[in-house]
Amino acid sequence: MARVTVIGGGPAGMLAASSAALAGNKVQLIEKNEKLGKKLYLTGKGRCNITNVSEGEQFFGNVARNPKFLYSALYEFGSNDIIRIIESQGVKVKTERGGRVFPSSDKSSDVLRALTQYVRSCGVEIRLNTNVQSIEKSCPEGFTVYTDTGKISSDALILATGGVSYPKTGSTGDGYRFAAQFGHTIKQPKPSLVPLVTEEQWPKLLQGLTLKNVKLKAVSNNKRVYEEQGEMMFTHFGVTGPLILSASSYIADSPENTILQIDLKPALDTKILDARVLRDFSKHGRKQISNALVDLLPSRLIPVIIKLSGLNPDKTADQISRQERFELVKLLKALPLTVKSVRSIDEAIVTRGGVCVNEISSSTMESKLQKGLFFAGEIIDVDGLTGGYNLQIAFSTGVLAGRSVR
Ligand SMILES: Cc1cc2nc3c(=O)[nH]c(=O)nc-3n(C[C@H](O)[C@H](O)[C@H](O)COP(=O)(O)OP(=O)(O)OC[C@H]3O[C@@H](n4cnc5c(N)ncnc54)[C@H](O)[C@@H]3O)c2cc1C
Repeated sequence: MARVTVIGGGPAGMLAASSAALAGNKVQLIEKNEKLGKKLYLTGKGRCNITNVSEGEQFFGNVARNPKFLYSALYEFGSNDIIRIIESQGVKVKTERGGRVFPSSDKSSDVLRALTQYVRSCGVEIRLNTNVQSIEKSCPEGFTVYTDTGKISSDALILATGGVSYPKTGSTGDGYRFAAQFGHTIKQPKPSLVPLVTEEQWPKLLQGLTLKNVKLKAVSNNKRVYEEQGEMMFTHFGVTGPLILSASSYIADSPENTILQIDLKPALDTKILDARVLRDFSKHGRKQISNALVDLLPSRLIPVIIKLSGLNPDKTADQISRQERFELVKLLKALPLTVKSVRSIDEAIVTRGGVCVNEISSSTMESKLQKGLFFAGEIIDVDGLTGGYNLQIAFSTGVLAGRSVR
């Protein structure tokens, strides 16, 4: 029976600790907060998108960095496994559009309660309000973990301290320091799944407006880096929402060279949309142009579109020339926005970067540099898009690390 210390009581640490305990080890789970899973509680806007039931290439296609590193972990413990554990604790789940799994109650607190119960039932000793300050390698084997409440000796160590986004939840990057101490390379942590600040000021006028079923294209240095259909929202600084967050994952390196194009009517090609606008203009011929667009666009968006299209707002629909109508249709199919920057890492859903994957065994999550040292969750340089992928990565790497400790 090995003495195992897991540092970090987020989803990765919880699953790592319970798996290590089930494998017959004596496990302590150390968390600096007063409760486990502070970030988990915030997930999915309080609903917790637990996982995604997509499989194989579809799942890995939604992992933005180092998907291959996760093959063994996902094979070891997939979405059905976490669903089984949560349901075994009396919390039912439901699957929504795009394979996203949520608790049926829509309450992240239920998921947190289920996982906390599960960790306890596996025989893990949980130590809350305990901040790990430093780690030393003991001789000849094992580790000494120094906390603000004393020291802990262990044979194996699992670092599950998360990334650096939303630092108020406890993930302040301590694990990077501990990993570096054992010679690990830390790929610079950057924000991912983060709102975007635009050069244009007009999004501010539309603050709070959500666009559903639009297509977003992101072009960086003349290369299309992202294209998807879904939902986005305007804010006082620019844009956010699922489409924008996912796009940010591909542009964080040089956001300032990125142009966004919003196709407001992706179901209609340019010709059909032109015919539709022509029909609306004939129907509302005597009305001012803004009133002729009411069937086509959300009312708050209309004045912005008219301004950007250069149309004279005093004109009536029947005064619009063919060329003017054509320019309008072009704008509706590719409304442009220029990215100025990404918002700070404090607002990022996930951290990209972290402990380099080529220094960790993908089949055990053990460090290739230090025997007995394991990693799990967001501390590793892997990150997914929105849709439940990041929590599943935390669960899967956690279980693999927990089952691999000896
Ligand atoms: C607002 C928001 C919404 C999200 N929604 C979703 C979603 O719906 N679906 C999804 O899949 N993903 C979502 N994510 C991402 C997901 O929450 C994270 O990827 C996941 O929590 C990472 O798990 P982790 O265990 O690796 O790290 P964390 O959850 O960050 O846990 C790390 C833990 O380690 C503790 N710790 C750190 N340093 C120390 C130390 N020195 N001593 C003791 N303890 C320490 C921290 O206090 C923390 O509790 C969301 C993230 C945010 C911020």
